[in-house]
Amino acid sequence: MTTPTICIVGGGMVGCALAALLGRDERFTGTVVLLEAGDPPVAGDHYDLRVVALSAASQRVLEAAGAWAEIAATRASPYREMQVWDAESKPGFPGSVHFSAAEVGAATLGYIVENQLIRLALWQTLESMERVVLRPNCRVSELRLEDATARLTLDSGEVMDCTLVVAADGAASPLREMAEIETTGWSYQQKAVVTHVQTQNPHQETAWQRFLPSGPLAFLPLADGRSSVVWSNTVEGAERLLGLDDQEFLAELEAASDGQLGKMLSCSQRAAFPLRLLHARDYCRQRLVLIGDAAHAIHPLAGQGVNLGFLDAAALYETLIKALQADEDPGDRSVLRRYERWRKGDNLAMLAAMDGIKRLFSNDSRSLARIRGFGLSLVNALPPARKAFVRRAMGMSGDMPELITRPEHTASELGAEFR
Ligand SMILES: Cc1cc2nc3c(=O)[nH]c(=O)nc-3n(C[C@H](O)[C@H](O)[C@H](O)COP(=O)(O)OP(=O)(O)OC[C@H]3O[C@@H](n4cnc5c(N)ncnc54)[C@H](O)[C@@H]3O)c2cc1C
Repeated sequence: MTTPTICIVGGGMVGCALAALLGRDERFTGTVVLLEAGDPPVAGDHYDLRVVALSAASQRVLEAAGAWAEIAATRASPYREMQVWDAESKPGFPGSVHFSAAEVGAATLGYIVENQLIRLALWQTLESMERVVLRPNCRVSELRLEDATARLTLDSGEVMDCTLVVAADGAASPLREMAEIETTGWSYQQKAVVTHVQTQNPHQETAWQRFLPSGPLAFLPLADGRSSVVWSNTVEGAERLLGLDDQEFLAELEAASDGQLGKMLSCSQRAAFPLRLLHARDYCRQRLVLIGDAAHAIHPLAGQGVNLGFLDAAALYETLIKALQADEDPGDRSVLRRYERWRKGDNLAMLAAMDGIKRLFSNDSRSLARIRGFGLSLVNALPPARKAFVRRAMGMSGDMPELITRPEHTASELGAEFR
């Protein structure tokens, strides 16, 4: 099997990253076809409302994919510290915890970057790759999995045969449905309201997060001095916040932030996204594999969703390259199961941890408030516990792909923290 055709369905951040990793690697001699239902990403003068907190591990994946230099040269905002506090506390007091990159010998905890900017940088890299075929505005409507080949039918009626289909088509994954892969999970009956705000006090390259009974409220530092707000709320609460005029909204936000960033001076447009937990029971079938949100969706309270997705992409890339080097069929279930075994435990552990934290904190109970306050104070008082949290959030622990642990695979500017 020397010239496989791999069809990646979904040109979101995760699908584009996998296409770029394969397309850049000379050991991969086949063809990658990237099918995306929407338009190609375009450069915009305005900040995209959707941003993600990228871990150091994700930065490494984007470096290996050839996109990080472009991202860093545009609007990536480093965050070096994190302040987390309970509704009944304040930063620096019992019931709060402070994390810093310096504590683990790193320059940053990660970067806040707009989703569209990541997609754009990856897409531009892909455009220059000979073995990658980009197909925007192509929606897959049918899938047939056979022992030796997978067949995709597009909305246009066009039919494509390939060695392997990678479903990177998001949490609602039509391909997962077509392959009849079941999921477990639930809706949180919550929505996250997002906007960018100008605050009176500087953000100090710090991510601020207050746990309110209605859900967590986060301020993520942006490169232009504003902060990106992610305010999880009940569905009704989120709809109400969207309906307020700017002045009313800013007044509520200021009260909810406990004044930690001073007055809320102005905000951009607002939008809300439904929140859910979802996990696919299987990550693969013969000739099909799931990555990113198609395999798992998580509450955004610790900003881990796409970071897990980039680890999936890196792990699948490594699994496929090793299989090809051993002259194995990359679409065979026995190969894809290696990737599944590698990533499933890690993803499930993170999903369970975030779900537990969400439940513990989104709660009015006084006894639970005491337990949470004690827990946060305990972590804050124990440097090894703080470091363990930081290393986990940076994607620096667990069974990591080689392109993250061996910087010689990339022109990495990161330090030795992964080794
Ligand atoms: C409010 C909020 C804040 C978040 N903050 C963070 C954060 O700070 N850090 C973090 O790591 N994560 C965060 N996340 C999660 C993160 O946004 C997701 O994990 C990430 O966007 C998933 O990327 P993906 O490429 O897997 O899927 P998607 O971005 O959903 O991309 C799927 C793509 O597939 C395409 N597609 C779908 N169906 C078809 C089809 N039939 N044919 C062809 N193409 C198709 C779609 O057009 C889309 O482009 C946040 C999420 C929310 C809601």
